[in-house]
Amino acid sequence: MKIAVIAHDGKKAEMVAFLNKHYKFLHSANMSIIATGTTGSHAIEAGLKVERVLSGPKGGDAQIATQVCEGKIQAVLFFRDPLDKHPHEPDINMLMRICDVHNVPLATNPATAKLLVSSLTKR
Ligand code: PGA
Repeated sequence: MKIAVIAHDGKKAEMVAFLNKHYKFLHSANMSIIATGTTGSHAIEAGLKVERVLSGPKGGDAQIATQVCEGKIQAVLFFRDPLDKHPHEPDINMLMRICDVHNVPLATNPATAKLLVSSLTKR
C-alpha cells in the first residue's frame, strides 16, 4: 500500500506529530510513503522512509495526483491550511478532485487522518 502525505506550511508540525504517532503503522512492511518535497523532508527527519516528489507549489501535488490516477496511491493525507493563501490552489483543488474521481480516501485534517489510519490498521 502506498500512502501520500502532504502538509501546508502551517500544518507541517501537526503532520510530523501525526507521523511520529503512527510511526509503527507507517513504517510497517508493505507500506510505502510518498510526499511532496518539504513535507517529505520533515517525514525523513522523523525517521520515515519516504519517496519525495517536487514541492507542492512546484508541481508536487500534480505529481501525486498523477499517481492517484494511475492507481498507485491508495490513500492521501493532505493537511491543508485553510487560514493561508496558496499560489498553487488550482493544483490543490485538482488533487482533491482526482481523489474523488478515483474514489481514493482523502483526509484533509488530522482527525480524519486518524480515523483513516486506524481503519487501514485493522485491514
Ligand atoms: P511541500 O508542499 O510539502 O513541498 O511544502 C506542500 C504543498 O503546499 O502542497
